Order: sequence, then C-alpha cells, then structure tokens
Amino acid sequence: MKEDTKKNKNINRRDFMKGTVAGMGVAAAPGSALFSERIARACMETVGSPQGTVPQISPSQGKETVGADVVVVGVGISGACAALSAIEGGAKTVLLEKGGNYTARGNDNGCVNSSVHREAGVVLNRGELTSELMIQANYRVDQRLITTWVDHSGEALDWLRSKVEPEGLRASLDLTEGTADDDKEGPYKAWRTAVTFTGSNAKLMSVVMQIVKQKGGDIRYNTPGVQLIRPGNGRVTGVIGRTAAGDYIQFNARKGVILSTGGYDNSPEMMEKYLRPSDLRIERFSSTSKICTGDGHNMGLAIGADMDEPPHCLIVCNGVLKNRSVFPLIFETVSLRVDKNGRRYVNEDGDYCRQANANAIQPGHFNWSIFDSSVDSVAKQLERTAKEEIILVANSIEELAKKMEVDPEVFTATVTRYNELAKNKKDVDFGVDGRKMKFLGKPPYYAAQVRNFALVSVSGLKINEKMQVLDKEGRPIPGLYASGNTSGGFFGDTYPRNVAGISCGRAITFGRIAGKTAAAERA
Ligand SMILES: Cc1cc2nc3c(=O)[nH]c(=O)nc-3n(C[C@H](O)[C@H](O)[C@H](O)COP(=O)(O)OP(=O)(O)OC[C@H]3O[C@@H](n4cnc5c(N)ncnc54)[C@H](O)[C@@H]3O)c2cc1C
Repeated sequence: MKEDTKKNKNINRRDFMKGTVAGMGVAAAPGSALFSERIARACMETVGSPQGTVPQISPSQGKETVGADVVVVGVGISGACAALSAIEGGAKTVLLEKGGNYTARGNDNGCVNSSVHREAGVVLNRGELTSELMIQANYRVDQRLITTWVDHSGEALDWLRSKVEPEGLRASLDLTEGTADDDKEGPYKAWRTAVTFTGSNAKLMSVVMQIVKQKGGDIRYNTPGVQLIRPGNGRVTGVIGRTAAGDYIQFNARKGVILSTGGYDNSPEMMEKYLRPSDLRIERFSSTSKICTGDGHNMGLAIGADMDEPPHCLIVCNGVLKNRSVFPLIFETVSLRVDKNGRRYVNEDGDYCRQANANAIQPGHFNWSIFDSSVDSVAKQLERTAKEEIILVANSIEELAKKMEVDPEVFTATVTRYNELAKNKKDVDFGVDGRKMKFLGKPPYYAAQVRNFALVSVSGLKINEKMQVLDKEGRPIPGLYASGNTSGGFFGDTYPRNVAGISCGRAITFGRIAGKTAAAERA
C-alpha cells in the first residue's frame, strides 16, 4: 500500500500533521530552494501532458474490452468511497489504479454533525461554518459545493462508520481541535470537524478496500486511466487504461466514469502553470506517492471539461525540515519568529498553512523560530535536534544572533521588545494572545530554521452538487464525474486548516455522492 500515515501514531494533536510527519523525508530534492530546480527532480513522468491533452489512443488499439456500469479512476479515499457507493447502488464497478496499491493518507476526516458529533455532544453551526468557508475563500468557490459538504459530510461519515465499525475500527471525534466556541487558531475559529478512526486512514482504507473486494469490485492495480472515451460532444462512454505491460484496455462504462486521481502535485509543469509563485517556494513534498500527476484533470480537459482558474490551492505547511520529531513542537508552540534579518514579522499564533504563507514572502522564504529553556520538554527536544545541527543553540541572545548570521543589535532589540510584550501579556505589535507568549529568559537559547513544504494540490475540474463534471458553459458532461482532489470549486486562496480534516472530508463526501449518483443513472 502507498501509505503516508502508518507510522505516526504518537502525536496527540494536530492530526492532519500526524499524516504529514509520517510521510516526510521522501520527496526532498537537494540544491536550490526554488521549486523548479528542487521539485522537478522529485517528480515522476506524467501520463497526461500538462497542456490538458492526453495520449491519443484509438479504441482499436485496445487489446481487450471490459464492460462495466461504473469505472472509478484512482483509488485514494475518494475513489474508494465512490466505488463502494456505486457497488452498493447495484453497479458493476471497475477500479483503475495507477500504482501497485491504493493510497491512504492522513488521519483527520472532516465532517459536520455526524453521529460521532452527536455522541460527543458537539453541535456545529452549519450557517456559521458555511459563511466562514466562503469568506476565507473570498467567495471564489462554489457555495453550492460548500453547502453540499456541510450538509452531507456527516451522513457520509456515518455511512463509512457503519461499514468499518463492524470490522473493529472505532470512530472518534478529535476533541483536541477546538475546546469551545471561542477557541481559535490565530484569528480563526478551530472547528471540531475531525473524526479519526482506529489506526488512522491507513487502516480505514485497508478495511474499505477489503469490503470493495468482497462486494465484487473489480480492482485493477498498475493500470492507469489514460484517456476518456467521448464520441463527439456526447456522453463519456468509458476510459482507456494501460496495463503494466503497456497494453491498452478499453473499459466501457454504461453509467459513468468517476475521476478520482488526486491532485497534480507530482507534475512540475502543472504546478508551475496553476499555482501562485509564492506557493512554489517549498523545500519538499511530504507525500510518499509520486504518481499524482493530474491525469484526471488532463483527461477531463482533453474532452472539454472546465477547470478552476489559477491560482489554484496547494496545501502548504511549514516546519523544520530535516527532523520529524521537531514538527509538533514547531506547530504547537507559539514562539517568537523572526525573518532572516532578525526582525519579528507576523502574529505567530496562526495555523501552519497561514504561517507558511507569511514565511513564503520573507526574504529567503524562511524564519527563525526562537525558544529558550524554560520548558523542559521543549528544551530536551531542541537539544536532541541541535546535536544533529538542525537547530542552533547558544548561551546568550548575542551569540545566537551570530550563529543565525543576523545583526546582534537588531536581534537583541527584537527579543527585548518581545519579552516586554510577553511580560505585560499584551501583544500590541502583532496581536498574539498575550497568555500564549513566552518570555525568553532562560539559556540556552535555540533558533530553528523553519521552511515550507507541501502536501497536495486541491483544485481541479469544475463539478456540480452531483459531482458531474462541467463543460465551459457550466453544463454537465454526461457520464463524467470527479471527486476529491481532482475536483474543484471548493478551496480558495489558502487551505482552511482550522476546519480540521476538510480535505479528506471532502474526498469521502464527494466520492460517496459521485458513486451513488453514477450508480443511479439509467444505463
Ligand atoms: C502526508 C499527508 C497527510 C495528510 N493528512 C490529512 C489529514 O489528516 N486530513 C485531511 O483532510 N487531509 C490530509 N491530507 C490531504 C488528503 O490526504 C488528501 O487531500 C486526500 O487524501 C485526497 O484524496 P483523493 O482520493 O482525492 O486523492 P489521493 O489520495 O491522492 O488518491 C488518488 C489516487 O489516484 C491514483 N492515480 C493517479 N493518477 C491515476 C491514473 N491516471 N489512473 C488511475 N489512478 C491514478 C493515485 O495513485 C492515487 O492512488 C494529507 C496529505 C498528505 C500528503
């Protein structure tokens, strides 16, 4: 299994990052910090070209023809939910997966007012959440899709729960996210949307895929979908897949093809074409999968689908990149952050996506996060890491400044001012809640260099509430659906990290709707 989640079970907060931490260390590339040089080398060949075309294969090149009701292309969490829903709707379903196994990522599955919420006595305000998501995206998303997720994610989670709980997986609400109505991640409310399953999404996916198999799903690994079949401007009637041996198979889909091939975060060309330049200032990817090259996007574009306008949304985080163990510390501790010149530049109490945005526009695209030794556990972690030469350590602020190669006078003035604000518990400079500020007074002092990294791209083909892919006139393309990170209209400028697990949550909900709707189509 391609799995970005398995090992990291010990961190009890920021579940999204659980998956991230576990997946680190794979796609890093040496050399310059700039995307084009670093990341390109970490990417694999693309199946579809970046221009939205796909190899032109005539159906007659197919060695074999397979008949189905529904063909799901891509087996991550979205494709798996789509397939299971289609099978339950009575559809003969084929699943095509490019890799040698399904993909499982993450831990947090965002949903609204599920049975898990009810059992925990948590009620989320749907109107407030909807407007928050709209406002965060500056209305550059489709409110109908936001509402679809808000209104149907609880039901989708309950459906999933009903499948996997009999197999021993327990669903629980992540109560570390948000404690009360006024709990904030920086300026944003921390929403208690994340439901987790025993063993994280790695276990969840293994159970779901077992069920898919038991119920008769025809799963074809190492068989990427490469081209949709759409005679003229009519219905999409199937998809051509390619076997590991290089042979083409024509999969006819009487009811529909569902594109759930994930994002395009392993296609350097698409990244450069569709993302904002500051999002490309990343040091590495955290995903272990290298095969999400936007194939579904390109297959859709090639037959007339419309796509979100650039700049697209990429989930960008920030942290100390050479060492996994420091991640939770950097994310969970509100510490002084300074730019490469030793000056404070941001309210440090924001979620990691927003902090990454602020990081990306600093000179050198990094910050120094500063700690002292007043908290034992923190100091111990820092000390351990410092030995690996990732974190700088010094007995005085001046000495630390020298190691950071910043002007000691400027940095000392920054720390003095920060301490003054921390002592008064009022941050009149950048607005951090004064109770969260930590006076820096106990040597040794530490400076961690924090840079950005990326998870997955989350923009894609335009869809409607039934997950039907739309053409440039906004009309559904008959027989074609998209879900998860292949679909668009849902995320704006920046991933709304404070709505925990919304990425997997969208993938589950929209996969479920796509599968149900396709199965219900008249063949
Ligand atoms: C390390 C990490 C941790 C994360 N943690 C969380 C979390 O806790 N909560 C959260 O909400 N989000 C999290 N995310 C993001 C989230 O996991 C993804 O957004 C979500 O899994 C997307 O699901 P998907 O099914 O759309 O795509 P994917 O999971 O990417 O699956 C797409 C599948 O399609 C396959 N594929 C690609 N091209 C083709 C083709 N041509 N033919 C056939 N198959 C193809 C791929 O191999 C893959 O198996 C995390 C991401 C990472 C990288």
